[in-house]
Amino acid sequence: MNVLVINAGSSSLKYQLMHVESQEVLAKGICERVGSPASFHRYGTGPKEHQDDLPLEDHDQAIALVIDALTTGPAKAVDSLAAIDAVGHRVVQGGRYYPQSVLITEEVIGRIEELAKLAPLHNPPALRGIFACQHHMPGVPMVAVFDTSFFQSMEPKSYMYPLPYDLYEKHDIRKYGAHGTSHRYVAEQGARLLGIPFAESRLITLHLGNGCSASAVAGGKAVDTSMGLTPLDGLMMGTRCGAIDPAIVPFVMDLEGLDTAGVNNLMNKQSGLLGISGVSNDLRTVAEAADGGNSRAALALDLYAQSVKKYIGIYLAVMGGADGIVFTAGIGENSAMMRARILEGLEGLGIVCDPLKNAQGKGPRVISTDSSSTAVMVIPTNEEYMIARDTAEIVSAQ
Ligand code: AMP
Repeated sequence: MNVLVINAGSSSLKYQLMHVESQEVLAKGICERVGSPASFHRYGTGPKEHQDDLPLEDHDQAIALVIDALTTGPAKAVDSLAAIDAVGHRVVQGGRYYPQSVLITEEVIGRIEELAKLAPLHNPPALRGIFACQHHMPGVPMVAVFDTSFFQSMEPKSYMYPLPYDLYEKHDIRKYGAHGTSHRYVAEQGARLLGIPFAESRLITLHLGNGCSASAVAGGKAVDTSMGLTPLDGLMMGTRCGAIDPAIVPFVMDLEGLDTAGVNNLMNKQSGLLGISGVSNDLRTVAEAADGGNSRAALALDLYAQSVKKYIGIYLAVMGGADGIVFTAGIGENSAMMRARILEGLEGLGIVCDPLKNAQGKGPRVISTDSSSTAVMVIPTNEEYMIARDTAEIVSAQ
């Protein structure tokens, strides 16, 4: 089955056309700066990469262009629209309604709209992607794959906040998590790499990209995760602060004369690696600055490693130990330096990184010593495959 995977952001639309059974990526690309005159479409890979600069007013125009590129032109992947069997949409917030991916119906669209109150930056563009596909691919079945679904297995002791209970009853204030599709994929793959049945494994998954989150996955189910009601909670990130003393919020609002939008911006866009280093949200740039003697950049790296290390400790306690720890996403997959810093000093907990294995290799691999009682793995994430696989399963079952 050929599934078109769509990830629609506020000003971007990423896509991949995948043959699910073989996991072959038939085509992929991104429309960026959608809604601005400087928009462009980049598609293909390596030497066959193309970029067309052209104005894309909205997601509807972007989808029309994507379909055109998939069926004609230099990166043509299929003869016609008829060769696209289904569409899988990444949707950030599924609230308490969707513990699994779901066929998109009018009711589901209504729920995604309703849940925009919890994900105002993410659910509305996902809807625009869905509407555009309905417009240009009428009759093609579509599935919504939610970032939150994997965490619906959490128990109340993990997802409730110790706030007045009526906030939960009135406004659904609770932990939902994010990056669930990535955590689900790397946890499954991690158990496979260790040769343990997923349903019997205990894993700590670390999605360390520009956004960062950690999860505890026991018995094949998420039991806890670091992101909360919103993706601001938990680990320090590229520009987000992660968990801080909540009293800082009103305090800083008073001191700096900020309104809610201002303080939200400060915590989401001006904090994290960028806020501490003053250099960049990109780990590579911060590391270069630290190597060059920039003490704030060095502090940012220390804080980041400490933040992840603490969550490893929390989840070891929550699960009573772990068979494995999985690193994934841009930093987790690529930065041996940051992995080493995070794992440093954990030998007493039975977590022993092998410096040679950590520094070498590609693809899914174990980087801990044979004597490490908790294995450490690096597993490249593949959210698109999970979206395509869920979509194929749901559409086949109709
Ligand atoms: P992502 O959001 O998953 O694309 O991850 C982005 C983060 O990964 C940025 O902080 C990058 O600096 C970091 N990253 C990507 N590639 C590398 C690399 N080769 N070495 C170190 N960090 C990297």
